[in-house]
Amino acid sequence: MSEPIVQFKNVHKSFGDVEVLKGIDLDISPSEKVAIIGPSGSGKTTIIRMLMTLEKITSGDIIVDGQNLWKMEKNGSMVEANQKHLRSIRGDIGMVFQHFNLFPHMTILENCMTAPIHVKKEEKTEVRKRSIQMLERVGLGDKLDNYPNQLSGGQKQRVAMARALVMRPKVMLFDEVTSALDPELVGEVLEVIRDIAKNDDMAMILVTHEMDFALDIADKVVFLDEGVIAESGSASQVIEHSQNERLQSFLSRFR
Ligand code: ADP
Repeated sequence: MSEPIVQFKNVHKSFGDVEVLKGIDLDISPSEKVAIIGPSGSGKTTIIRMLMTLEKITSGDIIVDGQNLWKMEKNGSMVEANQKHLRSIRGDIGMVFQHFNLFPHMTILENCMTAPIHVKKEEKTEVRKRSIQMLERVGLGDKLDNYPNQLSGGQKQRVAMARALVMRPKVMLFDEVTSALDPELVGEVLEVIRDIAKNDDMAMILVTHEMDFALDIADKVVFLDEGVIAESGSASQVIEHSQNERLQSFLSRFR
């Protein structure tokens, strides 16, 4: 089996006096699709934000592509282990948020082109070609020159996915990407993620409340409860066959 692309080793995270992650251990292999489920407040978004380096860890190790993101100073505070690595890692991790985060003053094509050109310093013609391909892939090839406010929520979310894919990330993070959408728009967004999951080789980590969807696409499901991984295994083991009472009670809300 290949080396994990992402490893959490005994990761703790506190906000002030409140410890929200209490020793997370998690390995994700390069093409693995992992769903994180769990009650509100259990720490799911914090895991994603730490991986995006938007949030520092309090202790432990997060290793991406073989290198630690953080190291502990003598005084116990965490600092960037290697700024160059951290910069390149940020380019290797794509993220889709609940609230799209598109640039309102740019067309959807420009939204897709900006990071590869300005962050990765790639050549414009090639980025434009790839951006159009990705927008076609998510079904928006006829909307290249539209602005985000001319699109539905589902379409905006599909732009956000195309924008992340244009960066050719090694890891894609999806944080409850359907929970801000009107119910009738959820299906089209899940369909695009399903297409990515089935056809692309990158690792994917999805925080989701869509259990049928997780069952369909996830290689591994992790149940986070009060800051610990209370259950982890294949989608079927965790969602259909677990004996964990708190997990069963959590899942009963979705039936
Ligand atoms: P989930 O995504 O599972 O709903 P979160 O990771 O968002 O959970 O939050 C876990 C806990 O951490 C919650 O109790 C939340 O209030 C707390 N928390 C998250 N971010 C911060 C922050 N920046 N400052 C203080 N507390 C926070």
